[in-house]
Amino acid sequence: MTQRATSLAHLRRRATEKKWPEARSWCERRNLNAGYVLRKKGKPDPTPARAEKRTASRYYQLKSGHALTGVYLKSTDNRPDDHCWWCDPDNNCGVQQTRDHLFKHCSRWKDQQAQLWARVKEATRKGKRKWRVGDLLADKRCSPAVLNFLRSTHVGRAAPPVEDSGDEEEEARGGGRWAEYCAE
Ligand SMILES: [Zn+2]
Repeated sequence: MTQRATSLAHLRRRATEKKWPEARSWCERRNLNAGYVLRKKGKPDPTPARAEKRTASRYYQLKSGHALTGVYLKSTDNRPDDHCWWCDPDNNCGVQQTRDHLFKHCSRWKDQQAQLWARVKEATRKGKRKWRVGDLLADKRCSPAVLNFLRSTHVGRAAPPVEDSGDEEEEARGGGRWAEYCAE
């Protein structure tokens, strides 16, 4: 009957204590993605976990490097090139759409980037130039600012169709053929 005396809270605590070190070592063994930076304490960041699902999904996708970015879509053979569809819509200048590009340099999101980095500096006293995006996405002090950046931009949200059929009417209606990222 000793098992019955074990409280649910105690069981949960034991499960949690066991789970996080295991998850961490699994990630380290797998070394899934060099761009993915594990947070130091190994506990989940509560801010994206509490955010609305659509934004939280984009946050986690960008964090893992598996998001709708030019570089990722090219790596999965879903696009012929990794150019930024906002800066380089005609594929002239070959600007790669990396996470770094989207968070720091993309001309389409200048205002939103300025807000993001001002908030990050306020929270951490470290400015834009000192951050790698992988570290930014691993630092819970920055997650409120990053989530706001995602809400105010289309970064990681959708990708334009690869082939331009010239169907301007359909594009004017909202780009129905864009690959929407659907987490639900
Ligand atoms: Zn761009």
